[in-house]
Amino acid sequence: MSKFTSLRGFKDILPEESDRWLWVESTAHETFNVFGFSHIRTPILENTELFTRSIGEATDIVEKEMYTFQDWDGKKVTLRPEGTASVVRAYLEHHLSEKIPLSKLYYIGPMFRHERPQAGRLRQFHQIGAEIIGDLDPRQDVELLSLLTRFFERMQVTDLTLEINSLGCPACRPTYRAALQSYFEKYLPELCEDCRRRFKTNPLRILDCKKEACKAIARNAPSPIDHLCAECREHFKAVREGLYQLAIPYQIQPHLVRGLDYYTKTAFELTTNKLGAQNAVAAGGRYDGLVEALGGPPTPAIGFAIGVERLVQLIDPALVPTSRLRLFLAPLGKAAGAALFPLLLALRRKNIRSEMGNDAIGLKSQMKRADRLGAAYVLIVGENEMTQGKAILRNMSTKAQEEIPLSTLIETLSAKLS
Ligand code: ATP
Ligand code: MG
Repeated sequence: MSKFTSLRGFKDILPEESDRWLWVESTAHETFNVFGFSHIRTPILENTELFTRSIGEATDIVEKEMYTFQDWDGKKVTLRPEGTASVVRAYLEHHLSEKIPLSKLYYIGPMFRHERPQAGRLRQFHQIGAEIIGDLDPRQDVELLSLLTRFFERMQVTDLTLEINSLGCPACRPTYRAALQSYFEKYLPELCEDCRRRFKTNPLRILDCKKEACKAIARNAPSPIDHLCAECREHFKAVREGLYQLAIPYQIQPHLVRGLDYYTKTAFELTTNKLGAQNAVAAGGRYDGLVEALGGPPTPAIGFAIGVERLVQLIDPALVPTSRLRLFLAPLGKAAGAALFPLLLALRRKNIRSEMGNDAIGLKSQMKRADRLGAAYVLIVGENEMTQGKAILRNMSTKAQEEIPLSTLIETLSAKLS
């Protein structure tokens, strides 16, 4: 054991798992591209105020989870806890609306939250997120949800439930907030300390409390669905009809809220029953007020974020395309090593995945290493072969061996292996 270990809640992604990560990422690039999204990469470190403004002061993230510090200039900076605020900041900073009025952007990268580490909950985790900025049409909500479900379908992750709700808008939120407060008022002494505070600052957050006592009380709380204004009601109806039209199954979850303040209208989560307590693999919703709150013109938008660690756990490793070693060169002795070494680069130039053994090591150990690397073929060249101008090619699964002249080695191997 080394003297150093990684920080609690920070995880190494090792080769045994990284194949799945690469597959997730390449499938994301392909799928999001097909749906017309462009890739965006924003910095991991931002001004703290960007997050306090957008996520909201009275949220778990801002109250207790952000990695915030002063840099050497005395500026308050934060490791991003989520992606949307940064994307909207970049959208405004670079006037993307002038170049692409309807901006469809996606990102992949690490996020940081100082939460209690446990299964499915890390302090550095990764999200794949998508945002559609600039259109209020409920069809955008449906398109985004169709992208989300298609992405999981491509990785054959099934048994997911799409839960949707509508959180209303600034027109209907105050009446709903008042209804919530008058409901929870009766139960104030039974609520946890956090929720008693939320009662005043942000009563919607009580619906998201993970404590059993609070969950039991919240079960009969009023739903925002029953307090929607006409516009939000119409919007929610159109989203449901669109999902029906595309045969995307969903459930209405009347108490679903989100941990960030900026959400309006449509909110959703993709959940699984295969991950225990941390059952959400993706979440998102509309945030029609955020662009304006960050200093831009009134601009509707919607997005989601997928938790990559949780998604990776749901993937069947057998489905992941792995590139196996095609050829292991086994030289026996210095002369053979010198003859085979240039061949290694020549094979790699032909995009054939190959490795070479140490010419000072015996055949048995080299074969063992080739086996451990999963090589499909091994090319053996010893002193005998060198004098006779040939090499032995062994098929590792059939054990069949054949002789190949050294003079035509590259041509024969590349024809056989590529
Ligand atoms: P939760 O209710 O699980 O705390 P959240 O509402 O905080 O989730 P979002 O901010 O909406 O989550 O992030 C979207 C997704 O990112 C989540 O559904 C989850 O899959 C993943 N995620 C969020 N926080 C973590 C974390 N600490 N560790 C690993 N994955 C996470
Ligand atoms: Mg959370």
